[in-house]
Amino acid sequence: MSLQEFAQLTLFITGPTYIREEVKQAAMLPEFGHRDAENELRFKPIRENLRILAGAGDDYEPVLVLGSGSSAMEASIRSLVAEDETLLNVSVGAFGDHYYEIAVANGKNAENLKFEYGQPIDLAVLEARLEALKPDVVSFTHNETSTGVVNDMKAVCALIRKHGGMPLVDGVSIYGGADLDLSNSGAAIYVTATQKSLALPAGFGIGFVSREAEEKAAWVTNKGHAHDITRQLVCARKNQTLTTPNGALANQMAVQLDYIVNEEGVENRFARHIAMRGMVEEWVAGLDGFDMFVPEGYRSPTLTTVVCPEGVTQAQLKNGVKEALRKEGYLMDPGYGKLNAALEKEGMRQIIRIGHMGDITPDMLAAYLAKLEVALKAL
Ligand SMILES: *Cc1c(COP(=O)(O)O)cnc(C)c1O
Repeated sequence: MSLQEFAQLTLFITGPTYIREEVKQAAMLPEFGHRDAENELRFKPIRENLRILAGAGDDYEPVLVLGSGSSAMEASIRSLVAEDETLLNVSVGAFGDHYYEIAVANGKNAENLKFEYGQPIDLAVLEARLEALKPDVVSFTHNETSTGVVNDMKAVCALIRKHGGMPLVDGVSIYGGADLDLSNSGAAIYVTATQKSLALPAGFGIGFVSREAEEKAAWVTNKGHAHDITRQLVCARKNQTLTTPNGALANQMAVQLDYIVNEEGVENRFARHIAMRGMVEEWVAGLDGFDMFVPEGYRSPTLTTVVCPEGVTQAQLKNGVKEALRKEGYLMDPGYGKLNAALEKEGMRQIIRIGHMGDITPDMLAAYLAKLEVALKAL
């Protein structure tokens, strides 16, 4: 086969994301034995830096679950929802529904409370449902990647706590791109992944496990093997993984987290994400007929959703705009497929997404927006 056929595209989708050259090179660092002292050289700093980036202190134990974000989500469900308990899942989009579907697939008693696309969790509606249902566990999405909505994690967790529930949080597309202050978040477990704002290849789900979650997982039964947080924690405390890790990704992760914490600096990284959101807001304000999809105050720092003018079709975005940008060396995101299909059916305007997370720089984003503007104006 001809490897030259693999195009070098800069990814402006919402995951996986652009990977820096230094991180690509790190995949060629030496392989190692995962029960050998060499393992410690990778995973000790990885776990320390994961805590720093989360603002987790010693309040949460970072655990690396082989698989992806969904694997860590599944581990949270298997380990923290007991057989006779009720789970309320709160969804503001496709990834919220994904958490619910994982719970159902694992035989849990689950209900899905859904909010309108583009809107955050309405706390009054949630409170009424919490009062009526009295769920033992409540899962929700911090940053909804299908719509670009960021929920107020602390406020949602506080409300769940007020009604006696245990909050499970999916932070897959925001961890590494925003200040979580996890120690003060109220989350019992916070799950994420490597291939979004961490700007690494996919391959690990990451769980931040509180002591409370650890204590509960100890008595929950039927947790399986790979999704059992109790087993995961035994290995994590030795800076090991439960099963054989992807060594190339571990090498890359060690290099990338060291760069984030010790070179770029976490505060600078978070500020860069907020600045890029501002750049897209300004760009949209200058474009005739285009609007922001999400109300101010709930716009994600890692991706932005933009409403296209009346008459723009899914086919134009997928075949026209996306392909025009491919010729410029970019992979463009023509919007979340199911959402745009539903919008088109109802005669509503289409939505595109701009991923500006991970290691994308403001200069890269400015160059991309200029090309995207040309392609959109050609419609
Ligand atoms: C990408 C994503 C997921 C799924 O993660 P995988 O790593 O593909 O399993 C779940 N939740 C959110 C919010 C995401 O953005």
